[in-house]
Formats: sequence, structure tokens, C-alpha cells
Amino acid sequence: MENCLFCKIASGEIQSKKEFESENILVFHDITPQAPFHVLIIPKVHISSMNQIGDLDPKILTEIFQTIPKIAEQNGISEKGYRLVNNCGSFGGQTVNHIHFHLLGGRHLKWPPG
Ligand code: 5GP
Ligand code: ZN
Repeated sequence: MENCLFCKIASGEIQSKKEFESENILVFHDITPQAPFHVLIIPKVHISSMNQIGDLDPKILTEIFQTIPKIAEQNGISEKGYRLVNNCGSFGGQTVNHIHFHLLGGRHLKWPPG
């Protein structure tokens, strides 16, 4: 997908601080962290939002969700806990139209969100 920021990060055209990479997914640090630990998990293939999740290969979907607890464990946030967030569309607060999951941890997060 042309002119998609996260496609460019996935391809390496735009640099990011990578936490984990495989053939199909990338985990990288958010440029504006909202918690002591804040990474974004994306499929490398372009999927616009949660509304199009049905277009994602179920194997990649499984890889995304199975990678999350591993990343949490490796970064010492499993025991105290963390938050997984997907913002979908303008009301959901989505600003980059390539599906991504925020993994936030390292502090006591408030609820409800604003
Ligand atoms: P959204 O608001 O769409 O749920 O999340 C987009 C996230 O991407 C934001 O948390 C924002 O800080 C992050 N972001 C925006 N541009 C860049 C960038 O160029 N590099 C990285 N690593 N993160 C970015
Ligand atoms: Zn994209």
C-alpha cells in the first residue's frame, strides 16, 4: 500500500526501534510512548483497521496474539499486567490506517479511557 506509514516501517523504508520481527509480523516501539513500555504489533501485510480483520490470514492473526504474551514476558510486564489496545476509526482514536495493536505496560494504567 503506497503512502502507508506502517507499510513503510514494515518494509524498513522508514526506521523504527524493533522489538521483534518475523516473516509476517513486526513489533516496534511507539514513537510517542504512553507508558514505560509501549510497542505496536502489526501484520506486515496492509490491513486498514479492525473492520477488515477478516482479510487477514488466520495464521498471522494467531501469530500476533501468541507473540504478545512472549513480548510481555521478555520485558518483565507479565506478572503485574499490561494493556492491549486497538483503536478503530476516528471515534476509536485511530490515526494510522494500518491495523495495529498497542501493548502498554510498566505502570498502573487507568480505566476508563478518555
Ligand atoms: P493510533 O492512534 O492509530 O491507535 O496509533 C498510532 C500510533 O503510532 C501512535 O501511538 C503514534 O505515536 C505512533 N506513531 C506515529 N508515527 C510513528 C512513527 O513514525 N514511528 C513510530 N514508531 N510510531 C509512530
Ligand atoms: Zn499499510
